[in-house]
Amino acid sequence: MNQDNSQQAVVRPGKVYLIGAGPGDPTLITVKGLELLKRAEVVVYDYLASPKLLKFAPKEAEFVYVGKKGGVHHAHTQEEINQMLVDHARAGRTVVRLKGGDPFIFGRGGEELEELCKYGIAFEVVPGVTSATAAATYAGVPITHRDYTSSLAFITGHEDPTKQGSNVAWDKIATGIGTLVFYMGIKNLPSIAENLIKNGRDPQTPVAVVRWASTPIQKSVEGTLATIAEVVKEAGITPPALVVVGEVVKLRDKINWFEKRPLFNKRILVTRTREQASELVRLLEDQGADCVEGATIAMEPPDSWDELDAALARISDYQWLVFSSINAIRYFFGRLREKGMDSRDLRGPKVAAVGIATAEALREYGIRADLIPEEFTGDGLAASMVAQGVKGAKVLVPRAKKAREILPDTLREHGAEVEVVTVYQNVRPKDYEMVREELAKGDIDMVTFTSSSTVTNFLDMLGTDREKLLAGVKCAAIGPITAKTAAKHGLKIDVQPPVYTIPSLVDAIVAFYAQQ
Ligand code: SAH
Repeated sequence: MNQDNSQQAVVRPGKVYLIGAGPGDPTLITVKGLELLKRAEVVVYDYLASPKLLKFAPKEAEFVYVGKKGGVHHAHTQEEINQMLVDHARAGRTVVRLKGGDPFIFGRGGEELEELCKYGIAFEVVPGVTSATAAATYAGVPITHRDYTSSLAFITGHEDPTKQGSNVAWDKIATGIGTLVFYMGIKNLPSIAENLIKNGRDPQTPVAVVRWASTPIQKSVEGTLATIAEVVKEAGITPPALVVVGEVVKLRDKINWFEKRPLFNKRILVTRTREQASELVRLLEDQGADCVEGATIAMEPPDSWDELDAALARISDYQWLVFSSINAIRYFFGRLREKGMDSRDLRGPKVAAVGIATAEALREYGIRADLIPEEFTGDGLAASMVAQGVKGAKVLVPRAKKAREILPDTLREHGAEVEVVTVYQNVRPKDYEMVREELAKGDIDMVTFTSSSTVTNFLDMLGTDREKLLAGVKCAAIGPITAKTAAKHGLKIDVQPPVYTIPSLVDAIVAFYAQQ
């Protein structure tokens, strides 16, 4: 055998990926950037990199926020960031350094890489959509145009233009270049505009200022070199914002596509019952809405499994095993699995499911439902079972801690011996605080409801503060049953589509705001 004297495990060196996150809209990251992010073991990210991107990294990755909220309040110094990248890479990790926009455009990406070079650490760079092009695009400004300009400059506005020995050649850029885009230029905007005019640029040159470009909270204003400082001040625009100077800004009148979408600037709270793929959110966002998703329900296992365990121990004594929800199925089979059992241990009882979806969930565990009622409700299920005859039958009903009694009661009335066991319980949802805070801030325009339970769970979350929290908020319901539940609880529904589907709910919301 080969003698190996080295006792120490050799750590394979890691690698740093410097990735441009894009300007704000998380979907503007490149495919390559996203693929690498999905493999990250450490993610070191900035203030301007969209936090929504972080959910694409593996859950077990380490996330390090390194701030940089402009100016003096840096969460970490550049030296600390450099050191961090070096340390993680040396420990053999795959490090993603995620920066807003493009890492090499006013992003100090070069400096971080120079540091890695010193230590011989491997790296790759993935460019990103820089905020200047995004801001222009999302404000309806083609940044170059054959009729208006054939040159373009990205300039830092961070430097005070009045200071001696400026690195920016104001005399040359003022008239020498068509479109000028200033990063970090809000604080110095008055002197930037003044300096350009002083160096020969026409005071009537149009200027657009775009804050939080490409995000649902984007705000843009327009003026001329002579007026823009005042316009920005009056509109209360603060960083991060970009200043676009040049004749191309005129095209905004025609091309301002992003801000003209029907639900732009509308913040909509979408209530959900459980983790569901949210078609509604996607369609609302397509129309420009800023969506906040709020789960109105959360579930946990019961306080004790004793009841179910006891029932499982004598499962073949039952004639019926009845499931009236998918959740009950998930928790029931979850426990079965925990106990090292599987569907084969359920020999004996026939299995009833309340509807098609429940029956399909059973299928996933290898069980074909023996009974599915014609009407997919607890009442319908009870009626179907009664029709088959339940006198003297032992019936096991695994279900939520608090549930309607109609099914067990009806079966008992017809002579069945019903045993109800708790397999899960509803608890306060994790979004409880968030939903209340969002409403309290007062910038939610509308709340959507897609089922009766979203209405009742949502109102439960608001409790006695309901009137205060819902002041000025519009409500949309998907259909008549949901609207009826809302009415029963004294909640006014402002929007209800004629057809009860998600796309028509979105159409109805768009029509509602079009009329306002
Ligand atoms: N590397 C980044 C720029 C970092 S400098 C990029 O390529 O975009 C920081 C400045 O970028 C901010 O002060 C602001 O001027 C600009 N900026 C970044 N993201 C922005 C956004 N979403 N909207 C407007 N300006 C933004």
